[in-house]
Amino acid sequence: MQPPVKVTRTILEPSDGELFARTSTYDPVLHCPVCRLKFSHVVAVYTLLGGDESGGLYRGSYLVARETPYRRDGLAVRVDGECGHRWDLVFQQHKGQTFVRIDVLESDKSGNGPQGRL
Ligand SMILES: [Zn+2]
Repeated sequence: MQPPVKVTRTILEPSDGELFARTSTYDPVLHCPVCRLKFSHVVAVYTLLGGDESGGLYRGSYLVARETPYRRDGLAVRVDGECGHRWDLVFQQHKGQTFVRIDVLESDKSGNGPQGRL
């Protein structure tokens, strides 16, 4: 089994402009947080396990070998950009609120494309 992809940078409290491109045709469109390319593919949804207040896996998600430093769990949506960058859009539970962040991940060097490892 391959190790999980590493987080290379975390963007806490991302601005609207860091999350989306706004075009005149389709608003808003997710774009790459590294190079801003607007072409990307959602490839997976998984749970980042929290600490002592973890509720286990979110329904419909599955586990990968990643944890969150928070007490509660996070839900990660894995996105592969057609540019070769990949990132997780994370919905992190914390003290009754759901925070949004971007975890930029190491690029896919396997050549597996959107179906590459988690
Ligand atoms: Zn990119």
